[in-house]
Amino acid sequence: MEKEGLQRSVEFFKHHNINIKTLVTDRHVQIKKWVRENMEDTTHAFDVWHVAKGMKKKLFALSKEKDCSDVSPWIKSMVNHMYWTAASSANLNEDLILAKWQSISNHIINIHDGHSTLFPSCQHDDLEGRERHKKWLKPGSKVYEKLQDIVNSRQMKKDIPMLSSGQQTSELEGFHSVVNHFAPKMIGFSFHGMLSR
Ligand SMILES: [Zn+2]
Repeated sequence: MEKEGLQRSVEFFKHHNINIKTLVTDRHVQIKKWVRENMEDTTHAFDVWHVAKGMKKKLFALSKEKDCSDVSPWIKSMVNHMYWTAASSANLNEDLILAKWQSISNHIINIHDGHSTLFPSCQHDDLEGRERHKKWLKPGSKVYEKLQDIVNSRQMKKDIPMLSSGQQTSELEGFHSVVNHFAPKMIGFSFHGMLSR
């Protein structure tokens, strides 16, 4: 359904001679492939909320493992860091975006300098209040090793540089939820029923 919808929308724009410079979608595999093969002149970017949702699920599962609950207070920070990485990286090269993202695995063990050549130091000011008193993870601990696997996974390396730095899909999600209120997906309506609703 997603792919069909995208194809029709792209046709519509083409028909009206509107060029699509950037396209922001979730990270649906079929969509990614179709855009790569059919929209050569378009930059394809991922909606941050969708990528963050996937990561949150993994971190939450990790927090339920034995001796790994220390990751819980960091889940929100990591989502924020993902949004920051995307929002502050318009037109930057992929390696730098990735270096920014990966600096979180140092920050989380209370190391804020010497991350990498491309992104040497955290850009936050001196930490105050809650941020300073949050419990740092311990290098070498099971939870820290597993967290690093998530931060540096192959999937992340592919997804992070593709995050949209500006437009997101939240307005569209909002629109769909209004439509869904009047025409719930669980009920099958006739074409006319659907149109009226
Ligand atoms: Zn830091």
